[in-house]
Amino acid sequence: MIDLHAHTSESDGSFSPSDLVALAHSIRLEALAITDHDTFAGFDLAKPLADQLGLELLCGIEVSTKYEDKSVHLMGYFLRSDPGEEFRNWITKLQNSRHERNRLLLDTLKAHGVEISAEELAQRGGPLPGRPQMAMLMMERGYVQSIQQAFDDYLDESASCYIQREEPSFAETLEKIRDAGGVASLPHPCRVTRDAKEITDMVTTMRDMGLAAIETCHSEHSVDDVLIYTELARHLGLAVTGGSDFHGARKPAIELGTGRNKNVCIPYSVLEQLRSI
Ligand code: AMP
Ligand code: ZN
Ligand code: FE
Ligand code: FE
Repeated sequence: MIDLHAHTSESDGSFSPSDLVALAHSIRLEALAITDHDTFAGFDLAKPLADQLGLELLCGIEVSTKYEDKSVHLMGYFLRSDPGEEFRNWITKLQNSRHERNRLLLDTLKAHGVEISAEELAQRGGPLPGRPQMAMLMMERGYVQSIQQAFDDYLDESASCYIQREEPSFAETLEKIRDAGGVASLPHPCRVTRDAKEITDMVTTMRDMGLAAIETCHSEHSVDDVLIYTELARHLGLAVTGGSDFHGARKPAIELGTGRNKNVCIPYSVLEQLRSI
């Protein structure tokens, strides 16, 4: 079993890079991809321990992009070589826009009666915090009962305090990933749209732009979703990827490797096929 989608405390997961590697080793994962939002710091920090333990660690990244009027995540996997200096420089722009969004979001929360200071977020949220850290602090302070409630009432795209972040276009991100030697996969297509015709049309266009794979198996996908996305990938000649989207305590119902209530199980052959592209 492998897991191609996991986050560390260098973005919005709660496990440090070493603790994540130790967990992956202890549950006998055959390979783990660290796919932090906007950063390779988690992968870079995890690599020495992974090498020491003999865990196959893969370098990935998850980028929030703009596709038409939607915010769509895109995953890059660097299976053959390091993404390189140019790509690593490009992602500093993403990090800056995240910090800027966080500043505006904290101001908006304050205007809605939720007081979390920037210092606190920096202290408790790690170097590149996201909305899950804000949700956690909001829960600790008693503003909400759960992380999910923080999203539903304040942080979700449809909620009162949502701040639209400056995002690179899907096309630019795809090009940057490919130029850096990466393989691009569309994670959790269920979050893009639940409309079957719309997702088919979108993924067809994305494939023509250079998308290599879609994430068929994910902790938010039902059994039917997995079948639908697997068929979509087959129909369009795309490879598949899969993973839990593990965030540790920030998404407590999701386990590394197995997802939510064991709804994720990715065989090693998925990685072999991805490598053969
Ligand atoms: P950010 O990158 O800071 O905008 O935050 C994105 C993170 O928040 C991702 O890990 C998402 O899975 C999580 N997230 C976004 N919307 C929701 C939601 N409605 N409920 C729970 N988690 C969410
Ligand atoms: Zn995340
Ligand atoms: Fe995502
Ligand atoms: Fe993710």
